Amino acid sequence: MHTVLAGGVGAARYLRGAIEAFDPASVTAIVNVGDDVVLHGLHISPDLDTCTYTLAGAIDPERGWGLVDETWTAMAELGRYGGDDWFSLGDRDLGTHLFRTARLQGGSDLTAVTADIAAAWDLRCRLLPVTNDRVETRVTLTDGSEIGFQEYFVRLAHAVQVTSVRFAGAERSAASPETLAAIGDAESLVIAPSNPIVSIGPILAVPGVTEAVTARRSRNVAVSPIIGGAALKGPADRMLRELGEESSVVGVARRYRDLAAALVIDEIDADLATEVEAAGMRPIVMPTIMSEPGVATALATACAEACR
Ligand code: GDP
Ligand code: CA
Repeated sequence: MHTVLAGGVGAARYLRGAIEAFDPASVTAIVNVGDDVVLHGLHISPDLDTCTYTLAGAIDPERGWGLVDETWTAMAELGRYGGDDWFSLGDRDLGTHLFRTARLQGGSDLTAVTADIAAAWDLRCRLLPVTNDRVETRVTLTDGSEIGFQEYFVRLAHAVQVTSVRFAGAERSAASPETLAAIGDAESLVIAPSNPIVSIGPILAVPGVTEAVTARRSRNVAVSPIIGGAALKGPADRMLRELGEESSVVGVARRYRDLAAALVIDEIDADLATEVEAAGMRPIVMPTIMSEPGVATALATACAEACR
């Protein structure tokens, strides 16, 4: 089994390579749920949906999130009533949220609903929410106020400074049995190139997950989401600095060194390989920008090799 700790876009691109490199049935993603939000009574799971839609080949290529060929009629009608419309939900996408919400209200857990959604899209690999419980990423701003992750990320377009991040509910949550088995039974475990603070952070905050990952450190590898000191997209670089860490592959190595033995860094960062080593991780230098599927496939192959 090839197990991947996954956030949104970066992880989804990695997974697309992994299902080319290996038997798709052996690929399992443990996905962040800290981004999940309830809006208009609907349970929305952005990272699970980004992984699902990307693997289904149905992600909108321009936006990088949501479904292709989307229309926005429901949102426009919501606007007519003065409803909350800062979080865009396309008409097609709404179908997913309606289905998920009804199933959860009917008593199914998120693991089962996610599996049914994946099956409906003919996904050949497995997607697991890290927990069936609610874990909510919340960020504190410089004025001391605390807001939900999507308010920070979408409503404020992450154009504000963050002083701390917490994962509400994490201490009361339990990793699903499927999650713990996928960590324990994996031949190789990869920490995908996702935001280390708000995508990988909530996964590791679920009790038991960090311990299970750390226990098999020598067979784990991480892929740096920071390239040339910056994030390809989103606030990962700024967040690292705002929280007092370094926005570089060395900063990533300091964060991940207890979790994985090796860190894949981009060719652009080759000159930092010795510093990564000094920080406690074995550097693997190769192309990591997965704009073409071939890069992701080579990356997945190298990651599995590094875990042997
Ligand atoms: P989300 O899509 O908003 O959930 O954000 P992610 O959890 O995917 O985190 C964004 C991070 O992933 C940023 O630091 C990006 O630099 C990184 N990322 C996205 N695509 C790639 C890629 O192709 N290669 C690498 N190395 N990192 C990537
Ligand atoms: Ca996300």
